[in-house]
Amino acid sequence: MDGGWTATTGTHHFIGNRWVVSSNGQSLEVIDPSDGQPFARIARGNAADIDLAVLAARGAWSDGAGDWGRMSATERGRLLMKLAQRVLDRCDELGTLESRTTGKPLKQGLADARALARYFEYYAGAADKLHGETIPYSAGMTVLTIREPHGVTGHIIPWNYPMQIFGRSVGASLAAGNACVVKPAEDACLSLLRVAELAAEAGFPAGALNIVTGLGSEAGAALAAHRGIDHVSFTGSPVTGSAVAVAAARHHCPVTLELGGKSPQLVFADADLDAVVPVVVNAIVQNAGQTCSAGSRLLVERAVYEEVIERVGHAISQLRVGPALADHDVGPLIRQSQLQRVWDFLSQAQVDQVPIAAQGTVVDDAPQTGYYQAPTLLRDVPPAHPLAQDEIFGPVLAAMPFEDEAEALRLANGTPFGLVAGVWTRDGARQMRLARRLHCGQVFINNYGAGGGIELPFGGVKSSGYGREKGFEALLAFTTLKTIAIKHG
Ligand code: NAD
Repeated sequence: MDGGWTATTGTHHFIGNRWVVSSNGQSLEVIDPSDGQPFARIARGNAADIDLAVLAARGAWSDGAGDWGRMSATERGRLLMKLAQRVLDRCDELGTLESRTTGKPLKQGLADARALARYFEYYAGAADKLHGETIPYSAGMTVLTIREPHGVTGHIIPWNYPMQIFGRSVGASLAAGNACVVKPAEDACLSLLRVAELAAEAGFPAGALNIVTGLGSEAGAALAAHRGIDHVSFTGSPVTGSAVAVAAARHHCPVTLELGGKSPQLVFADADLDAVVPVVVNAIVQNAGQTCSAGSRLLVERAVYEEVIERVGHAISQLRVGPALADHDVGPLIRQSQLQRVWDFLSQAQVDQVPIAAQGTVVDDAPQTGYYQAPTLLRDVPPAHPLAQDEIFGPVLAAMPFEDEAEALRLANGTPFGLVAGVWTRDGARQMRLARRLHCGQVFINNYGAGGGIELPFGGVKSSGYGREKGFEALLAFTTLKTIAIKHG
């Protein structure tokens, strides 16, 4: 590899285990959301850079005959385990880089680095346990199925959890035997460039993992449309997700879409409110609400509505917002446009007289140029209001009461999204009824894990997308099934 480069001083892609300058020589600023100031530059990739990366990946795969394509599942698992260890050894460096670029509090950046290592461990262990079946068929014949990698997979990654989303999609895809081309978000990609370097050091052959940085409309669009890509994994906004799916469909390329949500927490009067309050608050303020599975709607049975508003409001009013590396409860939003988006929603709340029940505090020494928004609890939000329907992607919780289980279910299912739901009740029959009738990809009963653990399949329905990542299920998405029928008499 070229020497003298670090993740914060270079303007290079990572292609074929080498640092490569953009074909057009252009670069982009990276802004620190905590003070709004540029602190690094990245390469501004375009279609020519994507071509180069796809070529490198296809060479590593070579229809199963390349250095990566012919590697055994056991060897792939060993390499992933080595990479997991390298990530663990460098958690402080990676976590700090993640916090600096995304604005998330340092403890969250460090947790994300550990989660990345855990993804690699999980998929390292799974790599050689992915096998097919035999199928009873005609006399004199044996039929078997085998799971094969697609070949070369494309991964378009957002800025909210770069390392975690990289872990869950690229980790699974590599374990399944694909070579990967990754286009991270332009706002936050430095940690991933560093991880690619660690992968090369761990012994991944050239071309197995390639990263092209740049804008979505340039490098991202080129990747989604590239005919050398056999599967695309996309996480981001519904609008961009549709554009990616259309581009991929032109060459009949399968796509996994993870597009966000408006996930409800349903709190019934018999719930343990001591357990409810901290979890509900964390589910909306984690990562400043910029989490696809944020618990952004709070539906509460009328009998305990005032008490829940009072207790959740009190907890939110205690929260302090400040620079990422100062490790307050909440960090800044990713960029000015995202802050403006949240302000627009809050202005609309004011116009429509939706009451603010509580707000946290931005610390006095937070730079004026940073993108800070105090966590906000809105109460009595009309169910059809954009505050209750749209993904705000900020620390804004929309609360509303319900009268009975039927209304709770109607409200919960009544948005264009269906990603995650939380149900809080001691009634076992109600737990199961709702778990079955909630139209979404994950249901948590008396707990809420935004996105859940690494082992838990994750993904949505409706405008939250389709396909599943995480857990063993993800390996199925990153493979294709071949049926082999042998006549032997
Ligand atoms: P986005 O969907 O535009 O960006 C996500 C990724 O897609 C980035 O890597 C981006 O460069 C790339 N991209 C953008 N345009 C592309 C195109 N035409 N073709 C291919 N790739 C493209 O998201 P955003 O603009 O950064 O954020 C806007 C909204 O998206 C947020 O307010 C939020 O609602 C949602 N979002 C959701 C998630 C999630 O985890 N589900 C993550 C980020 C953003």
